[in-house]
Order: sequence, then C-alpha cells, then structure tokens
Amino acid sequence: MRCCVPFAVLASLLVSGCVFSDNPPALRSLDSFKGGAACYDRETEPYTAVVDTHLHYRPFDGRAIPFNEVNDYLSQTSVRFANVYGIGQMLPANSRCSNYLKCPGTPVAPTVRNDFVNAANMLEYKPDDLHLTLSMTFTDLSDPEPTVELMKLYEKEYPGLFHWMGEVNLVKQAQFNNRHKAASPKDITKWAGFMAELKARNYPITIHSDLGNDQSPTLYLPLMEQALALYPDNKIVWAHMGLSYEQKSLPAAEHIAILSRLLDQYPNLLIDISWRILEDAYFSQWGNRPLYVDFMNHYAERILPGSDFVAFRGNNFNVYQQELDVTSRILKYLDDNAFRHIALGENYFKLLNLDYQAPMVCEAS
Ligand SMILES: [Zn+2]
Repeated sequence: MRCCVPFAVLASLLVSGCVFSDNPPALRSLDSFKGGAACYDRETEPYTAVVDTHLHYRPFDGRAIPFNEVNDYLSQTSVRFANVYGIGQMLPANSRCSNYLKCPGTPVAPTVRNDFVNAANMLEYKPDDLHLTLSMTFTDLSDPEPTVELMKLYEKEYPGLFHWMGEVNLVKQAQFNNRHKAASPKDITKWAGFMAELKARNYPITIHSDLGNDQSPTLYLPLMEQALALYPDNKIVWAHMGLSYEQKSLPAAEHIAILSRLLDQYPNLLIDISWRILEDAYFSQWGNRPLYVDFMNHYAERILPGSDFVAFRGNNFNVYQQELDVTSRILKYLDDNAFRHIALGENYFKLLNLDYQAPMVCEAS
C-alpha cells in the first residue's frame, strides 16, 4: 500500500503554493459545494481547478491504473468533480503496443470496451467524496450510423449512468499513421440522429478536432464549422482549443480571433482548455498570457478546465498532479468572475444542471 497521508499533506502544500506554511489550507470537500460555503480565498487556497472535465480513466491499450487509484489521486488534489472518459480510440486487444505513436500502421479505433469497464467500476466503486460524470467515448464520427443503437444499448445496460459523450475525434492528425481518418463533410451530416438524441438527453459532446497544423493553420477548421452550423442546438465542447502537437506556432491573436468568432456565432459552443500543450506551447510563450487571460475573462461562462491525464499503467500520482498544475496555471491570472466560473466549477454545474454551486471568491483585503 502506498503511504497516503504524508503524500496527501505534501500534495496540498504543493498545489497551494504554500510550501513553507505551517498551516496549509484544508482542501474543500465535495459537500462544501452544496452551497453556503465560506468564500474562496485565492491567496491561500489552490489555483488548481475543482473540476477536471477531461480525464481519461482508460488508456489506449487497456492496461489502466485501477479506477480507485485514479479517484485517490483526485482526492489528494483540489479536484472534486470529474468526467470519466474512456478514450476515443484503442489499440487492438491482441496488440502488444501501448503507445500508438510508436506503432505506426497499428490501427487505433473507437470501441465500447472502455466505457463498459468504467460503468462497471462506477457501480462497484462509486466514491463518496467525488462527483463523477460517466461519458460515452465509443462513437466513430466517420462511421456514425451505429451510434444511436449503441446509446440505447448503454441505456438498457446502465440506465441513467451516462451523461456525456466524448472525447470523440473529428480529426486527430496524431493518429493518421494509425489508420484514423478525418470525418468527411458527408459523415458530419450523418450525425443528425445521435446529435438529436444527445440534445434530447441534454448530454454535452466533447469533440477533438485539430484546427490545422504549422504548414496549414486552418486546414481542418471547415469541418468543425460545419458541425457547429449543422448542430447549433447541441452543447458542443471543443477540446484543447483546437490545438495539437502538429500546431505549435499559430499566433495567439489569430487563434483567439477564430475562437471568439465561433463563440459569438454559436451560443452553445464551449471551449475545453485541457492538455498541457496549451500552457507549454501557447499560454507561457512571450506576450501570449495577457491575450489568453483577456479572452478567458471575456468568455468566462464558455470555458471548461481539464487535465487530459491518461490513466496508463506507467503514469502515477505525480504525473496527475503535475498535469493538473500545468493546465491550471493560466487560472491564477483570471479575474474573480472567470475564476469562479471556470476553476471553481460554476460552468460545469450549470451545463449539467447539477445541484452544486461554486463558492463566491473572497474580496481582496
Ligand atoms: Zn483527451
């Protein structure tokens, strides 16, 4: 068994930034978000988010960190709410490959396997101190026809358990060598059945759709725009602000102009700021931070935080904590209104109609 208590104390010290304080702030409980909690003191409490909307409990190869252990990681940090994603694609069950990037030619494909493992784990090990939202990740956006029938099967097997769809891949260049193809404009028109079903059930859908790449910055933008134009009433969450390792040099002002235009045009669109590449390649680069902070303050009610941690066997608590920290770093700089909506969970609670509320931020003394 791991030595939990000293580690948890150390974790709270690190995330709060008060490494030398004798009295680290207590981490908030799930119940404290039921309302009536003390105001949130940004000077002494963590800047890391209380909600992780983009968290893969299942890896590409099926050899996962156990469900309870991932939950234990969250409990040691500020996170009390999380989306339980499988993963939008898996390696074949008989493959020895665990990282698709190292196995070009080996196919990765969407599957129901992860979702069923997550659902079974939720029934068996539902934690008391965390609020988990189970998500369907099986959908193949380039072959959407079976989706509605599979949603019915999920509902039959696990009634009322799933409340989200995604992360699903519209276009993910990183997997082009593993036989992934972008959904075509014709494929996108065929989403109509399952998008109607998602809307009726009030499930958001998180879509991974690369904006473009360093050679052609908006190459794939028309695909995302088509999805938004065809399904404006769906709550669509665009993962990673459209960025990827294939695109590290988009000027911030251009990027922000694209996102702002779409957010203005499509009131149900939300942006997910998960994945550390955003901090590493964009937010932290010279001159960019104030631009992104202004953008997030302006669209405070349209942004969701997430780590994009993948529960590979090789990962561990330190990796989770680091990814949470790096992806939350931008939150430090937000104004109180944006911090409350994004970091303290208000956007997430409203999106899912959850009976929780973000605490107010204490007025600066
Ligand atoms: Zn992801």
